[in-house]
Amino acid sequence: MNKVKYVYFFGGKTAEGKADMKNLLGGKGANLAEMCLMGLPVPAGLTVTTEACTAYYANNAQLPDGLMDEVWAGMKKVEEAMGMKYGDAENPLLLSCRSGARASMPGMMDTVLNIGLCSATIPGLLKKTNNPRFVYDSFRRLIMMYADVVMEKAEGHEFGIRKQLDDMLDKYKHSKGYKQDTELTADDLKFLSDEFKKKVKEVIGVDFPDDARKQLEGGIKAVFKSWNGKKAISYRRIEGIPDNWGTAVNVQTMVFGNMGDNSATGVAFTRNPATGENQFYGEWLIDAQGEDVVAGIRTPNPLNDATKNDQNKHLHSMQELMPATYKELDNIRMLLEKNFKDMLDIEFTIQEGKLYMLQCRVGKRTGVAALNMALDMMNEKLIDSKEVVMRLSPAQLDELLHPILDANDEKKYTVIAKGLPAGPGGAVGIVAMTSEKAMEYRAKGINNILVREETNPEDVEGMRAADGILTARGGMTSHAALVARGWGKCCIVGCDAIHIDLARNEIKINGKIYKEGDTLSLNGTKGWVYDQAIQMIDATENPRFQEFMKIVDQHRTMGVRTNADTPKDAQNAINFGAEGIGLFRIEHMFYGENSEAPLAKLRNMILANNVDERVFALNELEPFIKATAKGTLAVMDAKPLTFRLMDPPLHEFVPQTEDKQRELAKEKGMSYEEIKKRIDALHEVNPMMGLRGVRLGIVYPEVTRTQFRALFEATAELMKEGKNPKLEIMVPLTINVNELKHQKAIADEVQKEVEAKFGVKIDYLYGTMIEIPRATLVADQIAEIAQFFSFGTNDLTQMTFGFSRDDVNAIVHEYTEQNIIPADPFNTLDQEGVGELIKLGVERGRKTKKDLKIGVCGEHGGDPASVEFFFNAGMNYVSCSPFRVPVARLAAAQAAIKAKK
Ligand code: PEP
Ligand code: MG
Repeated sequence: MNKVKYVYFFGGKTAEGKADMKNLLGGKGANLAEMCLMGLPVPAGLTVTTEACTAYYANNAQLPDGLMDEVWAGMKKVEEAMGMKYGDAENPLLLSCRSGARASMPGMMDTVLNIGLCSATIPGLLKKTNNPRFVYDSFRRLIMMYADVVMEKAEGHEFGIRKQLDDMLDKYKHSKGYKQDTELTADDLKFLSDEFKKKVKEVIGVDFPDDARKQLEGGIKAVFKSWNGKKAISYRRIEGIPDNWGTAVNVQTMVFGNMGDNSATGVAFTRNPATGENQFYGEWLIDAQGEDVVAGIRTPNPLNDATKNDQNKHLHSMQELMPATYKELDNIRMLLEKNFKDMLDIEFTIQEGKLYMLQCRVGKRTGVAALNMALDMMNEKLIDSKEVVMRLSPAQLDELLHPILDANDEKKYTVIAKGLPAGPGGAVGIVAMTSEKAMEYRAKGINNILVREETNPEDVEGMRAADGILTARGGMTSHAALVARGWGKCCIVGCDAIHIDLARNEIKINGKIYKEGDTLSLNGTKGWVYDQAIQMIDATENPRFQEFMKIVDQHRTMGVRTNADTPKDAQNAINFGAEGIGLFRIEHMFYGENSEAPLAKLRNMILANNVDERVFALNELEPFIKATAKGTLAVMDAKPLTFRLMDPPLHEFVPQTEDKQRELAKEKGMSYEEIKKRIDALHEVNPMMGLRGVRLGIVYPEVTRTQFRALFEATAELMKEGKNPKLEIMVPLTINVNELKHQKAIADEVQKEVEAKFGVKIDYLYGTMIEIPRATLVADQIAEIAQFFSFGTNDLTQMTFGFSRDDVNAIVHEYTEQNIIPADPFNTLDQEGVGELIKLGVERGRKTKKDLKIGVCGEHGGDPASVEFFFNAGMNYVSCSPFRVPVARLAAAQAAIKAKK
């Protein structure tokens, strides 16, 4: 039988896995193997594959047959590599059990350390180390973690055993007059271990397993179970990690950073993850185990001079206290970057002076850091320009476009507290003291700052909901700092001036009390806190951003246009790199700024009683359309501009309440009853499927005529002024070619008139939106007349799903929550449904016209995943709102690079 291999060995200078086996071994397992192959000092161990995890779940939460046999066989090799034996009475080897999924999920799953300590192995370890304090400290930690992770959480209980044991420890320390854990003696720890075991039995009702083999099996199962823990599931939802990936388990020989003053543990980044600077950056703690650094329990020491800041400069660095080991580590840092060609985040332990590497993975970074590192690494010839483009995710680029505190305004205020700058950028909002509150504020659209005692992975959803995060404790490498940075959230940690009183729901900073709802501003780049609302500005002027975007455009083949309807928006979009306007919605001039005058004329047109009245009103309206069109064409000079004929149902432009209708009646010198009658006549049960789009132009051809005349005249005038307007006009909501023919006949007539009047020849493109499913099916016929297609994916989604785009929010929310659909189809394109229709439309359109120009102007044009789809569907361009243009440019370049690979 061809049995599946579930267990992979690594250790010494060999490994059964390697870096590119992340899907099977998880990120951690694959990189541990790779580090072994690189010859780095890695404690030997085994990786139990992600496939074993999926098999475990497929098998009703039972380990697959033979898995533990494979583990025990693998353990023989581990024992050989380390010269120790698991469960041995003389020379016992201890293990850690850690999760490790394909994508890093920092702190979201569980870990158990010191596995293998039991009455059979403790005497041997005592004899071997001659360090009873260390042995009992390790043992009490094992009991605490094992009871919490394996005996409680993995079994689905909620006893709060961890807190109860923590409280016992605190009480004991207090009774002895100790302040620090390090003051506990071997006898204290031995006593506490016994007490802990009793407590575990009392609370959980099961004995702590005094058997090394049972402990390991329990540890592996618990890690598998933690894949489906609450926080892991929340994190996966946010990050879009599929539930069926599963996690690997890394079972690795323990090395100890808690064996006294020549032992230590630390976490580091090969470059600064907040700014991207090329400096080794990290934190360490002497006489501690790894979790102490990342859990944010003690504020750690700086690794080196580069890591020192206002908060930790009085603490000793590793560079100062262990210069030789530091040098060795710094050398490993360089080897790792050369091998992985990226910034890595590493965990290490020093056991009695000997350095061990416990983990390395591609490090999470802010958008600014991603940008700086990518460009630096290209200059260092570590990566090429293609890779530079791939190194910044669209979300990180988006983050760069996000605001920071305005330095000029910031100067006016006093800093009330300083902390560690864990996530740069700025945030202004009101205080939320719990995750729930932050989520509540977010739901109401209120900007908020989540203020917490320490960084805690349980808060993941609140962190997501907050605009900024501020904590009293924790270091730069604490879990929450990592998570916040990964999301580009403004975050300040270790701000010890803050005293939080959850019972009273208040925060004290330097004697002043702040309550939930009070305003704070954070400068996450410096770690400064203010109690005023400071102005924000955007960060795009950064010259490195410009340099990066230039490289992006070198690799981009698909065009990126913008949706804009005013000269101002058009200019804005050009500044963001838009190459044209893909959608100018004519009706937008009747909303918002300066819309009163044209709206009044439009209303006259809508409420006209007959054709003559309507034509009179339209003639008055025409100059307004012409002026906006001309202004925008002038800004876009030589860049194409697609005007879309008026689309929405007319009732949208007339008042719906009695008050307003009476006002309008007065304005127009008509009776209220008459106005009401005419407005009521416009009523449609389902207006989005009624008299809108091209149907308006068919029913009222004079409406079409006016729009064409305004656009042609604007163009003719600009031509006469020596400008180069690139006019495109498209018809909305088309269902067949006859509609296009009908409107084209009007356009042709008007064109002749305008050309004669101005003595110029107008060259323009006549196209259509494709936004009704039927149009995609008859696209071959439509392409006989249309010179270009622009997919309106908003309406196409609406009509394909039968989801009203204006009303369906709550339903879509429910559907995504319950996993009935994977995402909101109005945000990210439904590729298997709407996407298929688009492919069909492209294919049929180009069957008629091989080089038919095709673009997209629905909201999806700015969504990175959708942009990739449009690229692969063969679109010539996407068009999106001005602020999303850089993101669309990046997504288009990345799609082109991926397609070539
Ligand atoms: C669309 O439907 O995708 C579109 C761009 O048009 P509108 O949003 O104006 O309906
Ligand atoms: Mg539409």
